[in-house]
Amino acid sequence: MKERLQQLQEEALSSLQQAADLKALQDVRVQFLGKKGTLTEVMKGMRELSAEERPVIGSLVNTLKDKFETSFVARQAELQQQAIAAKMANEKIDVTLPGRCALKGSKHPVTLVTEEIVEIFSRLGFAVAEGPEIEQDFYNFEALNIPKDHPARDMQDTFYISEDLVLRTHTSPVQIRTMLKHQPPVRVIAPGTVYRRDSDLTHSPMFHQIEGFLVDKKVTFGDLKGVLIHFLREFFGEELEIRFRPSFFPFTEPSAEVDIACVICGGKGCRVCGGTGWLEILGSGMIDPAVFASVEYDAELYSGFAFGMGLERIAMLKYGVNDLRLFFENDLRFLRQF
Ligand SMILES: [Zn+2]
Repeated sequence: MKERLQQLQEEALSSLQQAADLKALQDVRVQFLGKKGTLTEVMKGMRELSAEERPVIGSLVNTLKDKFETSFVARQAELQQQAIAAKMANEKIDVTLPGRCALKGSKHPVTLVTEEIVEIFSRLGFAVAEGPEIEQDFYNFEALNIPKDHPARDMQDTFYISEDLVLRTHTSPVQIRTMLKHQPPVRVIAPGTVYRRDSDLTHSPMFHQIEGFLVDKKVTFGDLKGVLIHFLREFFGEELEIRFRPSFFPFTEPSAEVDIACVICGGKGCRVCGGTGWLEILGSGMIDPAVFASVEYDAELYSGFAFGMGLERIAMLKYGVNDLRLFFENDLRFLRQF
Protein backbone atom coordinates (compact mmCIF):
# COMPACT_ATOMS: atom_id res chain seq x y z
CA MET A 1 0.00 0.00 0.00
CA LYS A 2 2.88 2.33 0.81
CA GLU A 3 4.31 1.79 -2.65
CA ARG A 4 0.90 2.37 -4.21
CA LEU A 5 0.62 5.71 -2.35
CA GLN A 6 4.15 6.69 -3.34
CA GLN A 7 3.35 5.97 -6.98
CA LEU A 8 0.08 7.86 -6.73
CA GLN A 9 1.84 10.89 -5.33
CA GLU A 10 4.30 10.99 -8.22
CA GLU A 11 1.50 10.63 -10.77
CA ALA A 12 -0.64 13.29 -9.15
CA LEU A 13 2.12 15.83 -8.75
CA SER A 14 3.31 15.35 -12.31
CA SER A 15 -0.29 15.66 -13.63
CA LEU A 16 -0.59 18.94 -11.74
CA GLN A 17 2.58 20.24 -13.37
CA GLN A 18 1.36 19.18 -16.81
CA ALA A 19 -2.07 20.80 -16.50
CA ALA A 20 -2.07 23.39 -19.28
CA ASP A 21 -4.83 25.64 -17.92
CA LEU A 22 -7.09 26.18 -14.91
CA LYS A 23 -9.78 23.86 -16.23
CA ALA A 24 -7.27 21.02 -16.73
CA LEU A 25 -5.96 21.66 -13.22
CA GLN A 26 -9.44 21.24 -11.74
CA ASP A 27 -9.87 18.03 -13.71
CA VAL A 28 -6.69 16.64 -12.13
CA ARG A 29 -8.03 17.45 -8.70
CA VAL A 30 -11.32 15.68 -9.36
CA GLN A 31 -9.48 12.73 -10.85
CA PHE A 32 -7.34 12.43 -7.75
CA LEU A 33 -9.50 13.52 -4.79
CA GLY A 34 -13.05 13.27 -6.16
CA LYS A 35 -15.65 10.68 -5.03
CA LYS A 36 -14.45 8.34 -7.74
CA GLY A 37 -10.88 9.68 -7.63
CA THR A 38 -7.83 7.45 -7.53
CA LEU A 39 -6.85 8.35 -3.95
CA THR A 40 -10.41 7.71 -2.77
CA GLU A 41 -10.27 4.28 -4.40
CA VAL A 42 -6.96 3.48 -2.68
CA MET A 43 -8.30 4.60 0.71
CA LYS A 44 -11.16 2.11 0.43
CA GLY A 45 -8.45 -0.54 0.85
CA MET A 46 -7.68 0.76 4.38
CA ARG A 47 -10.50 -1.33 5.79
CA GLU A 48 -8.41 -4.44 5.20
CA LEU A 49 -5.42 -3.05 7.11
CA SER A 50 -4.46 -4.11 10.63
CA ALA A 51 -4.94 -1.79 13.58
CA GLU A 52 -1.18 -1.10 13.72
CA GLU A 53 -0.85 -0.29 10.03
CA ARG A 54 -3.87 1.95 9.80
CA PRO A 55 -2.50 5.07 11.58
CA VAL A 56 0.79 4.84 9.65
CA ILE A 57 -0.96 4.71 6.31
CA GLY A 58 -3.48 7.34 7.47
CA SER A 59 -0.65 9.71 8.25
CA LEU A 60 0.93 8.97 4.85
CA VAL A 61 -2.39 9.75 3.14
CA ASN A 62 -2.62 13.05 5.01
CA THR A 63 0.91 14.01 4.03
CA LEU A 64 0.08 13.13 0.44
CA LYS A 65 -3.08 15.27 0.55
CA ASP A 66 -1.11 18.18 2.01
CA LYS A 67 1.56 17.90 -0.68
CA PHE A 68 -1.09 17.70 -3.36
CA GLU A 69 -2.91 20.73 -1.96
CA THR A 70 0.28 22.84 -1.74
CA SER A 71 1.27 21.82 -5.25
CA PHE A 72 -2.23 22.52 -6.53
CA VAL A 73 -2.32 26.05 -5.09
CA ALA A 74 1.14 26.85 -6.48
CA ARG A 75 0.26 25.57 -9.95
CA GLN A 76 -3.07 27.40 -9.83
CA ALA A 77 -1.33 30.70 -9.07
CA GLU A 78 1.14 30.05 -11.86
CA LEU A 79 -1.67 29.37 -14.40
CA GLN A 80 -3.63 32.43 -13.26
CA GLN A 81 -0.57 34.60 -13.85
CA GLN A 82 -0.16 33.05 -17.28
CA ALA A 83 -3.82 33.71 -18.12
CA ILE A 84 -3.52 37.36 -17.08
CA ALA A 85 -0.32 37.77 -19.07
CA ALA A 86 -1.96 36.24 -22.16
CA LYS A 87 -5.01 38.48 -21.78
CA MET A 88 -2.84 41.57 -21.44
CA ALA A 89 -0.86 40.61 -24.54
CA ASN A 90 -4.09 40.07 -26.54
CA GLU A 91 -5.88 43.21 -25.41
CA LYS A 92 -2.94 45.52 -25.71
CA ILE A 93 -3.98 49.02 -26.75
CA ASP A 94 -1.82 50.71 -29.31
CA VAL A 95 -2.02 54.35 -28.27
CA THR A 96 -0.18 55.40 -31.41
CA LEU A 97 -3.09 54.35 -33.68
CA PRO A 98 -5.09 57.30 -35.06
CA GLY A 99 -8.42 57.92 -33.25
CA ARG A 100 -11.86 57.68 -34.81
CA CYS A 101 -12.83 61.08 -36.16
CA ALA A 102 -16.15 62.69 -35.24
CA LEU A 103 -18.29 63.25 -38.34
CA LYS A 104 -18.04 66.82 -39.50
CA GLY A 105 -21.16 68.55 -40.78
CA SER A 106 -21.19 71.27 -43.41
CA LYS A 107 -23.39 74.25 -44.10
CA HIS A 108 -26.41 73.88 -46.37
CA PRO A 109 -26.00 75.68 -49.72
CA VAL A 110 -29.00 77.92 -48.88
CA THR A 111 -27.27 78.89 -45.61
CA LEU A 112 -24.05 79.58 -47.52
CA VAL A 113 -25.67 82.00 -49.98
CA THR A 114 -27.68 83.64 -47.18
CA GLU A 115 -24.50 84.30 -45.21
CA GLU A 116 -22.72 85.67 -48.24
CA ILE A 117 -25.59 88.05 -49.11
CA VAL A 118 -25.91 89.24 -45.50
CA GLU A 119 -22.15 89.79 -45.45
CA ILE A 120 -22.23 91.98 -48.59
CA PHE A 121 -25.12 94.11 -47.28
CA SER A 122 -23.54 94.35 -43.81
CA ARG A 123 -20.57 96.08 -45.42
CA LEU A 124 -23.07 98.64 -46.79
CA GLY A 125 -24.38 99.30 -43.28
CA PHE A 126 -27.49 97.10 -43.42
CA ALA A 127 -28.56 95.43 -40.15
CA VAL A 128 -30.18 91.97 -39.99
CA ALA A 129 -33.82 91.75 -38.82
CA GLU A 130 -36.14 88.79 -38.38
CA GLY A 131 -39.85 88.27 -37.93
CA PRO A 132 -42.33 85.51 -37.07
CA GLU A 133 -43.23 82.84 -39.64
CA ILE A 134 -46.84 82.79 -38.41
CA GLU A 135 -47.89 86.28 -39.30
CA GLN A 136 -50.91 88.51 -38.86
CA ASP A 137 -52.86 89.50 -41.93
CA PHE A 138 -52.02 93.15 -41.21
CA TYR A 139 -48.24 92.67 -41.54
CA ASN A 140 -48.31 90.12 -44.34
CA PHE A 141 -50.89 91.91 -46.55
CA GLU A 142 -52.83 94.93 -45.32
CA ALA A 143 -49.91 97.21 -44.36
CA LEU A 144 -48.10 96.25 -47.58
CA ASN A 145 -50.88 97.72 -49.68
CA ILE A 146 -52.39 94.32 -50.47
CA PRO A 147 -56.10 94.81 -49.76
CA LYS A 148 -58.62 92.03 -49.11
CA ASP A 149 -59.58 91.58 -52.77
CA HIS A 150 -56.01 91.36 -54.13
CA PRO A 151 -55.21 88.22 -56.20
CA ALA A 152 -52.03 87.62 -54.12
CA ARG A 153 -54.36 86.64 -51.28
CA ASP A 154 -55.88 83.85 -53.29
CA MET A 155 -56.51 80.74 -51.18
CA GLN A 156 -54.31 78.81 -53.63
CA ASP A 157 -51.25 80.83 -52.70
CA THR A 158 -51.61 81.37 -48.98
CA PHE A 159 -51.70 78.96 -46.05
CA TYR A 160 -54.33 80.35 -43.68
CA ILE A 161 -54.18 79.39 -40.02
CA SER A 162 -57.25 81.42 -39.15
CA GLU A 163 -59.15 84.39 -40.57
CA ASP A 164 -56.39 86.70 -39.34
CA LEU A 165 -53.30 84.44 -39.21
CA VAL A 166 -51.25 83.13 -42.13
CA LEU A 167 -47.93 81.40 -42.72
CA ARG A 168 -46.09 84.41 -44.10
CA THR A 169 -45.96 84.33 -47.90
CA HIS A 170 -42.91 86.62 -48.10
CA THR A 171 -40.34 88.28 -45.83
CA SER A 172 -41.86 91.73 -46.49
CA PRO A 173 -43.80 91.83 -43.18
CA VAL A 174 -40.39 92.34 -41.52
CA GLN A 175 -40.32 95.74 -43.29
CA ILE A 176 -43.53 96.76 -41.56
CA ARG A 177 -42.46 95.45 -38.15
CA THR A 178 -39.12 97.27 -38.42
CA MET A 179 -40.59 100.57 -39.62
CA LEU A 180 -43.20 100.54 -36.85
CA LYS A 181 -40.37 100.24 -34.30
CA HIS A 182 -37.74 102.55 -35.80
CA GLN A 183 -37.75 106.01 -37.34
CA PRO A 184 -35.67 106.61 -40.50
CA PRO A 185 -32.90 106.27 -41.45
CA VAL A 186 -33.30 102.46 -41.57
CA ARG A 187 -31.24 99.96 -43.54
CA VAL A 188 -32.31 96.38 -42.97
CA ILE A 189 -31.73 92.97 -44.54
CA ALA A 190 -34.17 90.21 -43.52
CA PRO A 191 -33.59 86.58 -44.48
CA GLY A 192 -36.21 83.98 -43.60
CA THR A 193 -38.50 81.07 -44.36
CA VAL A 194 -41.70 81.70 -46.31
CA TYR A 195 -44.66 79.50 -47.35
CA ARG A 196 -46.90 79.20 -50.40
CA ARG A 197 -49.39 76.59 -51.51
CA ASP A 198 -47.28 75.59 -54.48
CA SER A 199 -45.40 72.35 -55.10
CA ASP A 200 -43.85 71.13 -58.33
CA LEU A 201 -40.44 70.82 -60.05
CA THR A 202 -39.60 74.47 -59.52
CA HIS A 203 -41.73 75.31 -56.48
CA SER A 204 -41.60 74.15 -52.89
CA PRO A 205 -44.34 74.94 -50.31
CA MET A 206 -41.57 76.13 -47.97
CA PHE A 207 -38.66 78.17 -49.27
CA HIS A 208 -36.37 81.04 -48.33
CA GLN A 209 -36.32 84.69 -49.22
CA ILE A 210 -34.18 87.62 -48.36
CA GLU A 211 -35.69 91.06 -48.17
CA GLY A 212 -33.83 94.34 -47.99
CA PHE A 213 -34.96 97.94 -47.65
CA LEU A 214 -33.59 101.36 -47.00
CA VAL A 215 -35.50 104.50 -45.95
CA ASP A 216 -34.00 107.95 -45.53
CA LYS A 217 -34.37 111.49 -46.82
CA LYS A 218 -33.81 111.92 -50.58
CA VAL A 219 -33.43 108.24 -51.46
CA THR A 220 -33.82 107.86 -55.24
CA PHE A 221 -34.21 105.08 -57.79
CA GLY A 222 -30.54 105.76 -58.61
CA ASP A 223 -29.65 104.61 -55.06
CA LEU A 224 -31.67 101.45 -55.59
CA LYS A 225 -29.81 100.70 -58.85
CA GLY A 226 -26.44 101.51 -57.33
CA VAL A 227 -26.94 99.24 -54.31
CA LEU A 228 -28.36 96.31 -56.31
CA ILE A 229 -25.71 96.49 -59.06
CA HIS A 230 -23.01 96.59 -56.39
CA PHE A 231 -24.52 93.58 -54.64
CA LEU A 232 -25.00 91.48 -57.79
CA ARG A 233 -21.46 92.12 -59.04
CA GLU A 234 -19.99 91.33 -55.61
CA PHE A 235 -21.97 88.10 -55.56
CA PHE A 236 -21.78 86.86 -59.18
CA GLY A 237 -18.67 88.65 -60.45
CA GLU A 238 -17.54 92.09 -61.64
CA GLU A 239 -18.29 91.47 -65.33
CA LEU A 240 -21.94 90.57 -64.76
CA GLU A 241 -24.45 92.19 -67.13
CA ILE A 242 -27.58 93.46 -65.38
CA ARG A 243 -30.86 94.94 -66.62
CA PHE A 244 -33.80 96.57 -64.87
CA ARG A 245 -37.25 95.85 -66.31
CA PRO A 246 -40.44 97.75 -65.35
CA SER A 247 -42.73 95.58 -63.26
CA PHE A 248 -45.54 95.76 -60.71
CA PHE A 249 -45.68 95.00 -56.99
CA PRO A 250 -48.41 96.30 -54.67
CA PHE A 251 -45.88 97.63 -52.13
CA THR A 252 -43.52 99.50 -54.49
CA GLU A 253 -44.00 102.26 -57.08
CA PRO A 254 -42.26 102.38 -59.48
CA SER A 255 -41.23 98.72 -59.46
CA ALA A 256 -38.52 96.89 -61.35
CA GLU A 257 -37.64 93.31 -61.98
CA VAL A 258 -33.88 92.76 -62.14
CA ASP A 259 -32.38 90.31 -64.63
CA ILE A 260 -28.80 89.14 -64.90
CA ALA A 261 -27.07 87.68 -67.97
CA CYS A 262 -27.55 83.90 -67.77
CA VAL A 263 -24.73 82.50 -65.62
CA ILE A 264 -25.04 79.11 -67.33
CA CYS A 265 -24.72 80.10 -71.01
CA GLY A 266 -23.26 83.59 -70.60
CA GLY A 267 -26.18 85.17 -72.48
CA LYS A 268 -26.19 82.97 -75.60
CA GLY A 269 -29.44 81.24 -74.65
CA CYS A 270 -29.92 77.83 -73.04
CA ARG A 271 -32.53 75.64 -71.36
CA VAL A 272 -32.10 77.33 -67.95
CA CYS A 273 -32.76 80.85 -69.29
CA GLY A 274 -35.41 79.59 -71.74
CA GLY A 275 -33.26 80.72 -74.66
CA THR A 276 -33.46 84.41 -73.69
CA GLY A 277 -29.96 84.77 -72.29
CA TRP A 278 -31.43 86.48 -69.17
CA LEU A 279 -32.40 85.25 -65.72
CA GLU A 280 -34.88 86.95 -63.40
CA ILE A 281 -33.06 87.36 -60.12
CA LEU A 282 -34.98 89.76 -57.89
CA GLY A 283 -37.89 92.15 -57.54
CA SER A 284 -37.45 95.72 -56.36
CA GLY A 285 -38.90 99.19 -56.32
CA MET A 286 -39.41 102.46 -54.48
CA ILE A 287 -41.52 101.86 -51.36
CA ASP A 288 -45.12 102.88 -52.07
CA PRO A 289 -46.36 105.93 -50.08
CA ALA A 290 -49.35 103.75 -49.07
CA VAL A 291 -46.91 101.52 -47.14
CA PHE A 292 -45.41 104.58 -45.43
CA ALA A 293 -48.93 105.64 -44.48
CA SER A 294 -49.57 102.35 -42.66
CA VAL A 295 -46.41 102.76 -40.54
CA GLU A 296 -46.91 106.54 -40.14
CA TYR A 297 -43.77 107.62 -41.96
CA ASP A 298 -44.02 111.05 -43.61
CA ALA A 299 -43.94 110.27 -47.35
CA GLU A 300 -43.22 113.95 -48.11
CA LEU A 301 -40.04 113.80 -46.02
CA TYR A 302 -38.82 110.26 -46.59
CA SER A 303 -38.38 107.90 -49.49
CA GLY A 304 -36.92 104.45 -49.73
CA PHE A 305 -36.44 101.33 -51.78
CA ALA A 306 -37.04 97.63 -51.14
CA PHE A 307 -36.05 94.42 -52.84
CA GLY A 308 -36.54 90.71 -52.35
CA MET A 309 -35.21 87.51 -53.82
CA GLY A 310 -35.59 83.75 -53.52
CA LEU A 311 -32.55 82.16 -51.87
CA GLU A 312 -32.98 78.70 -53.42
CA ARG A 313 -32.95 80.27 -56.88
CA ILE A 314 -29.81 82.25 -56.05
CA ALA A 315 -28.14 79.07 -54.71
CA MET A 316 -29.17 77.13 -57.85
CA LEU A 317 -27.56 79.74 -60.08
CA LYS A 318 -24.49 80.18 -57.89
CA TYR A 319 -23.69 76.47 -57.67
CA GLY A 320 -25.20 75.27 -60.96
CA VAL A 321 -27.84 73.08 -59.26
CA ASN A 322 -30.62 72.13 -61.70
CA ASP A 323 -33.28 70.65 -59.38
CA LEU A 324 -34.89 72.61 -56.55
CA ARG A 325 -35.86 69.42 -54.70
CA LEU A 326 -32.19 68.61 -54.00
CA PHE A 327 -32.18 71.41 -51.41
CA PHE A 328 -34.90 69.71 -49.35
CA GLU A 329 -34.07 66.01 -49.68
CA ASN A 330 -31.13 66.12 -47.22
CA ASP A 331 -29.15 63.68 -49.33
CA LEU A 332 -25.66 63.71 -47.82
CA ARG A 333 -24.04 62.92 -51.19
CA PHE A 334 -25.42 66.27 -52.40
CA LEU A 335 -24.84 68.29 -49.22
CA ARG A 336 -21.23 67.14 -48.76
CA GLN A 337 -20.28 68.87 -52.01
CA PHE A 338 -20.53 72.29 -50.39
ZN1 LIG B 1 -28.79 80.54 -70.43
